[in-house]
Amino acid sequence: MTRKVVILGGGESGVGAAILARKQGYQVFLSDSQSILMHYQQVLKDYQIVYEEKGHTEEKILTAELIIKSPGIPEKSSLIQRIRERAIPVVSEIEFASWYTSAKIIAITGSNGKTTTSMLTYHLLKESGLSVGLAGNVGDSFAWQVAEKSFDYYVLEISSFQLDDIDRFKPNISVILNITPDHLDRYDYDFQKYVNSKFLITKNQTEEDAFIYFADSMVLLTEFAKRKLPVRAIPVSLASQPPIGGYLADDILVSQLPEGEFIEPFPNLPIQGPHNAVNALIAITIAQLLGVESQRIRSSLATFVNAPHRLEPVGNIQGVSFVNDSKATNVDSVYYALGSYTQPIILIAGGVDKGNDYSQIEDLVRQKVKGLIILTPDSQKLETYFEGIVPQIFVTQKVEEAVQTAAKWAESGDVVLLSPACASFDLFKNYQDRGEKFKQAVKEYAHEMGVSL
Ligand code: ADP
Repeated sequence: MTRKVVILGGGESGVGAAILARKQGYQVFLSDSQSILMHYQQVLKDYQIVYEEKGHTEEKILTAELIIKSPGIPEKSSLIQRIRERAIPVVSEIEFASWYTSAKIIAITGSNGKTTTSMLTYHLLKESGLSVGLAGNVGDSFAWQVAEKSFDYYVLEISSFQLDDIDRFKPNISVILNITPDHLDRYDYDFQKYVNSKFLITKNQTEEDAFIYFADSMVLLTEFAKRKLPVRAIPVSLASQPPIGGYLADDILVSQLPEGEFIEPFPNLPIQGPHNAVNALIAITIAQLLGVESQRIRSSLATFVNAPHRLEPVGNIQGVSFVNDSKATNVDSVYYALGSYTQPIILIAGGVDKGNDYSQIEDLVRQKVKGLIILTPDSQKLETYFEGIVPQIFVTQKVEEAVQTAAKWAESGDVVLLSPACASFDLFKNYQDRGEKFKQAVKEYAHEMGVSL
């Protein structure tokens, strides 16, 4: 008898899961509480997949034998509660897709750095000639690729929400970059629950599998020690030099494994800042584990282009560098952004606060930030915290005004850094929109100054 599967959510991952399920012979029904993009509706029609949008027909959903849930749907929603009451198995798209591929899986999670590290890893493997797909939060859905491609390797960027609904998902190489407070609203404001969710990435790993982690994170170290995982664990550190693992010594990236040694001056890489040394060391370690030669790794590192909005240089106007770090939506990423520069900084921050604790960046702000521009209608918390710490503060809701004021305060040699520590939904559609509008405002200012960027 055909098994009935219901897919909740008609975005990239849901539509991908529907295609794979159809191909695997399931009877598929997809349901989304919101409207589904025209493009995806067309795909569903092309594949003859039955779907509904702008609401869930519960009776129909509750007849499923398996539910594939979009990571965006919270566990607390009434529909999920009802599904749980009936004990219908619920899995995430990555779990489902992993059942139907024998490719080797590299799974990367963490609070920050997932996209950069996944993209860099993918780049190193692809450039070395391996047959590799990039999926998860970046690129096309994992399930969709499993349905239609036949890669030997997948690099998957994985959020904690996707990990919450895994069961047998077993990466050959897993990575946890860091665990700092984020998305706690989905974990009853209980940090340990969020930590547990991240560690699910190692749940099914055995001694044949590798686990790479950032050893300077106390949370990671403590949890790792507690769990006694049967994996081959490989640390990466900026503070120490593990005999097996990766580290940075006098600005040189070193990765030592039984598979070989890799050494390269960090300034040769196109991505900078201490956090990117960690990301690079992790990607290098993965490439080494998969047998990529040092020379290949070296030449591919040089050609990497990171995704926009992550410490993205916008241009230099009369000696002042403008940098777009709009993707910095939590305090930890701003900590690393500030640590990436030796020059004085004019910081543009603010937006929707997710319960931020600014003490982590207080010292760095005191040392480096000569002016703070708060870009949000809800500026009170930032203003109160940094009054007396930063010599000058300006509040605005207009990105053009933020750029103009920053430019007025800046002297040649300074950096104007948009690194908000907050979500963007108060004034912008999303972080991309915020970054684009910032870049536009910088370009307009450059134009006024007679500089072409
Ligand atoms: P994610 O996909 O986890 O959100 P990104 O690579 O998109 O990660 O980077 C998000 C933000 O975090 C950017 O501002 C970036 O500069 C910063 N960042 C990148 N890597 C790290 C890291 N290893 N530790 C802390 N912050 C990081």
